[in-house]
Amino acid sequence: MRELTVTRLPAFDDNYLWLIHGADPAQKHVAAVDPGDGDLVQQALDAYGYALDAILVTHHHGDHTGGVEQLARAHACPVYGPAREKIPAMTHPLAAGDLVQLPTLQRRFSVLDVPGHTAGHIAYVGHGALFCGDTLFSGGCGRLFEGTAAQMLASLDQLAALSPETLVYCAHEYTATNMKFALAVEPNNPRVADYAHAVTAKRAAGESTVPSTIERELTVNPFLRSRIKSVAERIWQEAGVAQASEAETFRWLREWKNRFR
Ligand code: ZN
Ligand code: FE
Repeated sequence: MRELTVTRLPAFDDNYLWLIHGADPAQKHVAAVDPGDGDLVQQALDAYGYALDAILVTHHHGDHTGGVEQLARAHACPVYGPAREKIPAMTHPLAAGDLVQLPTLQRRFSVLDVPGHTAGHIAYVGHGALFCGDTLFSGGCGRLFEGTAAQMLASLDQLAALSPETLVYCAHEYTATNMKFALAVEPNNPRVADYAHAVTAKRAAGESTVPSTIERELTVNPFLRSRIKSVAERIWQEAGVAQASEAETFRWLREWKNRFR
């Protein structure tokens, strides 16, 4: 299976909008993931002569949906999104286990329910790639705006179980600040230190740190590592508790990150 071709469109302060290309990129069929800025996507389509054949939305926040209505109208294309959320112009509400078939791209993606950041957040997996919106970031995870810690932990468990080489196309460039926090959680983990260093260098050179891989996230991301004994003990120490359940430990970790500067 040929690897997925994906174009990154940086938007706003730190968002990434993604264009997924067809199996034959020369045919110029694309799908847009989380098009928060319609003008930006339209400019890319115009510049390269791409045909927008589908829109894939992970959750309802405006930085992921702001351009959906405009683009769906202009291109008369289907809008896939989470069935449990209100998405503008949505034509194909999705839930776990559903398949998104994109015949003009010769691509298909399966849908995971990953609640936590929002109540109905979904992710798309296919062709060695994961589009996970604001659920998993490189070095971090989304804030718990609508879901519980237990939900987010279960959602991240699903993503962590994907094939290690899966490319993680998250929706924000938060990696540098995430890795500062990861270093506070695991100051003696050389993998964390090495990645934090590499991320700092990449950002200084104006480069993106996304996509990451599941394999890397398993080694550096504290939100995928909160069950490891040394990590859990560090979290309990910070929270001032002797011990806690897995979900509680994850909740303490998320709260620690929320106040971390
Ligand atoms: Zn969001
Ligand atoms: Fe976002």
